[in-house]
Amino acid sequence: MTTPTTLTRGCYAEAGTSLEFRTGDWRTEKPVHVHAAAPCHTACPAGEDAQDWLARLQEGNPRAAWETIVRVNPLPAVTGRVCPHPCEGGCNRGAFDGAVNIHGLERWLGDRALAEGWTLPVDALTGVPDKRVAVVGAGPGGLSCAWHLRRRGYAVTLYDALPEAGGLCRTAIPLNRLPRAVLDAEIKRILDLGVEFVPHTRVGAPGALTVSDLRSRHDAVFLAPGTGRSREWSVQGAVPENHRAALALLQEWIAVGALPTPRAVAIHGGGNTAVDLARVFKRAGVAEVHLITASGLPGPDADPDDVLNVVPREYVQAVEEGIVFHGHRTVQRLLMRGSTLFGLEMVALRKLPAGGGRTSRVPFEGTESILHVDMVIPAIGEQVDPAGFETLLGAASTFRPADRWGTLAGQDGVFVGGDARGGSHGPG
Ligand code: SF4
Repeated sequence: MTTPTTLTRGCYAEAGTSLEFRTGDWRTEKPVHVHAAAPCHTACPAGEDAQDWLARLQEGNPRAAWETIVRVNPLPAVTGRVCPHPCEGGCNRGAFDGAVNIHGLERWLGDRALAEGWTLPVDALTGVPDKRVAVVGAGPGGLSCAWHLRRRGYAVTLYDALPEAGGLCRTAIPLNRLPRAVLDAEIKRILDLGVEFVPHTRVGAPGALTVSDLRSRHDAVFLAPGTGRSREWSVQGAVPENHRAALALLQEWIAVGALPTPRAVAIHGGGNTAVDLARVFKRAGVAEVHLITASGLPGPDADPDDVLNVVPREYVQAVEEGIVFHGHRTVQRLLMRGSTLFGLEMVALRKLPAGGGRTSRVPFEGTESILHVDMVIPAIGEQVDPAGFETLLGAASTFRPADRWGTLAGQDGVFVGGDARGGSHGPG
């Protein structure tokens, strides 16, 4: 016997009876309002709330929008150009008609601020803290830290090994991606707040200041030396005689405008460094440039969690320039005469469950293919240059903070940040 349907005064079915109406079970579900950060906000490594500043821009107030950005990120004209904008990957609108062009608007706001000479909004302080902080590394992480400390009134001394601030933005990002006038202007705006910049100082180098020296002279030390050293690489223990690291080649191109120009090059890796270097090789005159990556390639059917982590337009332009991408592949074997490379063997990778909800990529037998190249360049990631930080780093490739504030365990008043910060409390 069928249970008679009971209708409420509002003519909605009682919970559990809606199947009588064949409308599905959604009619009996009560919406739950969850307050959470927008996906673009949680996806932004700089912590920007794009929803907030986009609303101010939409209201016709670009300066308020820019001030909202720089309260978090003081380099929007830089990040608007070089950030791979994961915020747009998280944008809900992406599933409807296309993600909001967050990075383009950020770049526009950053450029407008520079053109109009907008100054950074320093907090109104009731008293200036009598504290001094040493910041090690003048890349984006160190500069950002210097800004956040200065706006709160702390005295900041910023140390860097190089003659100018900017870190890898200055030494490794090609000029077509980041004009140095833009970088210089955003850095100047931070230094002009009263940050003392000490160039030519590699903290920890023989005869130079150590982290302990800095700690004894300051109330706190913030380490943001970046990841300026390429990771070790070999294929089954083999390394060709003409082996070069991707980062070093990019730095060489920017410093002297020249690169080795063999007939054909393969770059092994899938980040911005790999794509930047591939495009630079093309410009230097290399006829055949391949990029081999374990990630998938961008496209309408691509899984957003498994796609090349680069600025999307950089990928499109690289394809237009003739760079050949090999997605979901790895280098399985180097083909060498003695230690001279004449080719490599690639193999396709498949994602398989690895237990605990994780997956791993494994070579797929029978998919091997040969590429005839004269040079293979690994671009598989970078690590902190351990020189001077051996004790603090231990065997790790990045600093492992003990808490979300970046405190280094056992080091009172020493914090880490930027790309150099890894472990469960930071990127890496
Ligand atoms: S472009 Fe980069 S820095 Fe800017 S909001 Fe998006 S993720 Fe954040």
